Amino acid sequence: MQDTIHCMQERFRAMQQAHLSEPNPDHATRSDRLKRLELALHRFSDPLMEAMQADFSHRSSSEAAAFDVTVPIGDVRMNRRHLRHWMRPRRYATPKHLLPGRGRVIPQPKGVVGVISPWNFPVYLATGPMAAAIAAGNRVMLKPSELTPHTSDVLKQMINELFDPNEVDVVLGGPDVAAAFSELPFGHLLFTGSTQVGRKVAETAARNLTPVTLELGGKSPAIIGQHADLAYAAKRIAFGKTVNAGQVCVAPDYALVPRAQMDSFAIQLVAVINEFFPDVAESDDYTAIISERHQHRLQSMIEEAEARGVNVIRVGDTRRATTRKEAPALLIDPPLDIRAMHEEIFGPILPIIPYDSQEEAMRFVATRPSPLALYIFTDNKAERDAWVTQSLSGGACVNETMMHVAVDTMPFGGVGESGMGAYHGKTGFDTFSHLKSVLYQPKLNTSFIFNPPMRPYKRIAGK
Ligand code: NAD
Repeated sequence: MQDTIHCMQERFRAMQQAHLSEPNPDHATRSDRLKRLELALHRFSDPLMEAMQADFSHRSSSEAAAFDVTVPIGDVRMNRRHLRHWMRPRRYATPKHLLPGRGRVIPQPKGVVGVISPWNFPVYLATGPMAAAIAAGNRVMLKPSELTPHTSDVLKQMINELFDPNEVDVVLGGPDVAAAFSELPFGHLLFTGSTQVGRKVAETAARNLTPVTLELGGKSPAIIGQHADLAYAAKRIAFGKTVNAGQVCVAPDYALVPRAQMDSFAIQLVAVINEFFPDVAESDDYTAIISERHQHRLQSMIEEAEARGVNVIRVGDTRRATTRKEAPALLIDPPLDIRAMHEEIFGPILPIIPYDSQEEAMRFVATRPSPLALYIFTDNKAERDAWVTQSLSGGACVNETMMHVAVDTMPFGGVGESGMGAYHGKTGFDTFSHLKSVLYQPKLNTSFIFNPPMRPYKRIAGK
């Protein structure tokens, strides 16, 4: 492992040197790099799909194709489409006393950018930040997850084939390599993963004053408002909780439901999940759990709930499954001190909690760590606006789950314990750019203003 770390440090220094020889690549260079990333994703789509199948023991092929091939390709294209516009100097109004000077903001690359990615969307969460960092003119070092070793290997092969190692490089390894990776003095470091590890990454990066973007997790609530279309809400929440078997950072983690509608909501949810996956064990469309450790973690959450007398409704039977599939499970009105109510679930388990008033539900959310996402289901404008404007979460959807992330022009990021900073669209370009403020002074009025004594300021001060 020491060899890997030493080699990584050498690679980093070589990349830094390469950056110094070309500190601000032009549009053609950046566009060419993005084109190659798109080509790489096309060329390696089959090996990537096979690798993801191997890593998950079973992954829904339609979800893998959509979220880890089609979306990443679209993302690279989006960056390339807007690149010229984003790279332009930006005009800012100049105060009268500095005219005819011109204030402009010039986006500049930060140098070598580090990206640490998780396993749940192993391609998209690696190439998404990479595309934004490349668009911003940086060189990129990626450390993908050790929990998807096959996919990480293919990512490395794909990058090696299409890029010079001084442009983009992939470092493989587990937590020790990742910890050493976050010690490198990157121009910017984007970490996607758990809040617990994110905290360590922020501490380590602070020693170099490396700016960090932390894309973390948390417990995103889905709220059935007092004016919700229950059948519709059940459908959208079932969708959000079963995509990738709930292993999604923005999956609804638990549901808050008006007390009188608890039974009706649970019945509709079970019906929809059965409709989506008549047989979870056999269904190609239902993904397995990433590792035995995570499967045991989820099973022990359910066992704890059962041991505490919670009504657990399992939707489907995975005993016949030859892969690590876990059937969706609803925990009806569990006590709030069980693990499923204070740890991020990251799997197909949905606690359903009753509430009696909007005020109580809003307090429930507000007194817990700020979530990455919040989903409010209601047809009432006042109720909708109260949730959207009064609650603090990374992002939100009204009458939908997760799809705000698909509006790829909007910033995506958490707040508080769910993360800091954001990317996607122009926000991603700006995250990986230094926005340098420049005053262009055409030498016409300097003799009047900025020589001692500072006349205009004396006047303002009343002297
Ligand atoms: P994780 O935190 O265990 O690992 C993420 C990455 O961090 C891996 O590449 C790992 O090797 C690396 N790592 C491990 N120890 C490290 C250390 N000491 N220093 C630096 N890096 C280290 O997370 P995970 O299990 O891969 O992913 C699941 C978590 O990620 C969930 O909490 C989920 O909510 C979150 N997530 C967030 C987003 C988002 O965009 N906000 C997206 C996907 C997943």
